[in-house]
Amino acid sequence: MSQTDINRVVRHTRRARTLGTDAKCDECGSTDVVSLVKATTSPVPTTTPTPRTRTKRTGTTAGTAGEPAPCPTSTKATGRTGQASAPPRVLCYEHLLIQQGKATVEAHHPLGKAHDPSTVGAAGNLHRALTDSQEDWPEEVRRNPHRNPLWWVAAIFYSLHDYLRWLMQRCHAIGDILVKAGHWAEQQGGPQWWVAAGIQIP
Ligand SMILES: [Zn+2]
Repeated sequence: MSQTDINRVVRHTRRARTLGTDAKCDECGSTDVVSLVKATTSPVPTTTPTPRTRTKRTGTTAGTAGEPAPCPTSTKATGRTGQASAPPRVLCYEHLLIQQGKATVEAHHPLGKAHDPSTVGAAGNLHRALTDSQEDWPEEVRRNPHRNPLWWVAAIFYSLHDYLRWLMQRCHAIGDILVKAGHWAEQQGGPQWWVAAGIQIP
């Protein structure tokens, strides 16, 4: 195991500890430690003044509805509690954004914020995963103060690697979902359910 792998495991273990045992999103059941947060926000706002709580995150700041948030490197999210006594909930980052009435798509810096100001839209949970992975990049690539072109290209490959790893980690689960959905479709529409549904297979 490389030092980068060790750093990653340590970082994620620390996050898991703050979330508690078997943490998962109260809304969708996601167990992705990187995207889970402890939120004291309540879905039912009250009319009384509400205290402000801070939700510890690795950096992503939620944007307002319809407006992508800046990329997360040095900012913190703030959640408002609807009820001061509401117990903390564990939510994935996207469900936290939904609860706060904010957009779930944010502006991600694929080459790192300090490296390149270009952004692309990314769903909140993906944004957190990709930004977390950027912490594993060599310091010179993340900062690249003199615009070394080789480090700029290195950032492209690291970024591609991080996205493909995120996708690969979910490919098997997506296959499992499709298998279950296939059984459900057969029960609903018979062995050739797609014909019954008017779907033409290309
Ligand atoms: Zn969720």
